[in-house]
Amino acid sequence: MRTALGALVVTLLVLLAAPAAAEDDPVGVWPLHPEPEVVARFDPPATPYGPGHRGVDLLGRAGQPVRAALAGTVTFAGMLAGRGVVVVGHGDTRTTYEPVAARVSVGDAIGRGAVIGALQSFASHCAPRTCLHWGWLRGEVYLDPLRLVGAVPVRLLPLWRDTPAHDATVGLLARPYADWRPPALWD
Ligand SMILES: [Zn+2]
Repeated sequence: MRTALGALVVTLLVLLAAPAAAEDDPVGVWPLHPEPEVVARFDPPATPYGPGHRGVDLLGRAGQPVRAALAGTVTFAGMLAGRGVVVVGHGDTRTTYEPVAARVSVGDAIGRGAVIGALQSFASHCAPRTCLHWGWLRGEVYLDPLRLVGAVPVRLLPLWRDTPAHDATVGLLARPYADWRPPALWD
């Protein structure tokens, strides 16, 4: 009985997890190589100005090359609010990278995995460590960039609990960044 129940739970998790990995998501690459540790996950705000984490933080080292997750065109490369920022447009979405010392210019067409700059050690979301904040947007809607690399975690939905199992963990990870806002540029 226990085994049968376990199999059922696994089946349900697989079924429920399927929509999270949308089949029409573009296939990208990690901005840092080798595959980095995800220090803080995506925690989209409930309201446009609400607390949350509008992207993911990837652990890296100062000076490490930062790569475009998808092919596209550079739409911003420079300083914003005291930190280096690169934005790459991909049709109806765009990816953002910071803090990065840009090695590309606005209008540059770049390939997937192309180096767009070097990771900076200051203004990091995981200070005193060095992290890349990686974002993905469609219009003004923040998306989870881990979808681009097929790394979205399985969400444990409340089938047998009163509350979602992941909320407490995500909240704890995200709170240190709750007051952070991306520079108001992303158009
Ligand atoms: Zn961040």
